[in-house]
Amino acid sequence: MIEITAKSLLGLNRFELGSMAETFGEPTFRGNQIADWIYRKGIISIGAMRNLPSSILRRLEEEYCVGRPDLLKEQKATDGTFKLLLQLQDKCSVEAVGLPYSGRFSACVSTQVGCPVGCVFCATGLSGFKRNLTAGEIVGQVLELKARAEKPVDHVVFMGMGEPLLNYDATVKSLHLLAQELGISGRNLTVSTSGYVPGIMRLADENLQVTLAVSLHSTDDAMRQQLVPGLARWSVAEIVQACTTYVSQTGRRVTFEYCLIDGFNDSIPHARKLGVLLKALNCHVNLIPLNPIPDSPYKPSSTSRSSDFQNELIRCGVKVTRRQRKGTGIDAACGQLRQKSVA
Ligand code: SAH
Ligand code: SF4
Repeated sequence: MIEITAKSLLGLNRFELGSMAETFGEPTFRGNQIADWIYRKGIISIGAMRNLPSSILRRLEEEYCVGRPDLLKEQKATDGTFKLLLQLQDKCSVEAVGLPYSGRFSACVSTQVGCPVGCVFCATGLSGFKRNLTAGEIVGQVLELKARAEKPVDHVVFMGMGEPLLNYDATVKSLHLLAQELGISGRNLTVSTSGYVPGIMRLADENLQVTLAVSLHSTDDAMRQQLVPGLARWSVAEIVQACTTYVSQTGRRVTFEYCLIDGFNDSIPHARKLGVLLKALNCHVNLIPLNPIPDSPYKPSSTSRSSDFQNELIRCGVKVTRRQRKGTGIDAACGQLRQKSVA
């Protein structure tokens, strides 16, 4: 039996939806109405678009679906953080996390099913790579989080499963949709990359005003080769050069993510090298406590080692924060919930 999968409305902007309406013999302003229903009002079925004539609803229902994912599992932590395991049309699953902070709410989304980069401390990286997500599947995660959030979603971070810049077109399309259709300011959209230099250079040219985060984890090429094997062909110097270009073209500060791994990359000399490398750049370092994953030899640094590392960076004149640990107890590291569920 051939299974016919309906096309998804999510992923189309109001102009594309307008062109689609035209092919049904309808005026293009129907595109605005459909966009408002699927993005702003968050409806999950075509029949819920009450101000559309029944003729267009019938045509839409024949060929399209809204395209929202199905909820497979939800976990909630005591601090309000919640994690969703979402199933896509082809039964692949991805994780999305809702992160409430005082005064804002952040949605953390996946861009790929699995990840080809294979970072050795990352549950997603260890699970292999299946496929890229579409722009509609990325935005669909934000809508699922929004439906369950207690305050408006005003930040989106591309820090779930996958390497966004290796799924460039869908990532950029979803950034446009989040800005234009969900009204989230470009400054509140953060794309995190583990250092895919050609993608950083392309993003610098987009005129998007999004925040770039680079998961550096080490200043040493050999060490990065060990930690981030899939992107080892770009040296630390090339990554920092690409970030310098990003800063000068966009005027935006770059964030460097640095996962502190006990006895591996967390010594004072490591901090000093990082400080020297970054002190001339308009940037900020975010120290991440490693979330230990089962059967991994990599362990989190102690609080005192993390503080010493942070203080050394401050001494070098680099702006630095330590990421708040959120979602403890809900398989919070990227890819952990899915790993448990598909295992
Ligand atoms: N692929 C992109 C974005 C997704 S990963 C990237 O690597 O930047 C998002 C962040 O989670 C990255 O900074 C990554 O280093 C971090 N991360 C992955 N596994 C982790 C773990 N076990 N503990 C803490 N941070 C982790
Ligand atoms: Fe992929 Fe990011 Fe995980 Fe590395 S840390 S494997 S790049 S998702």
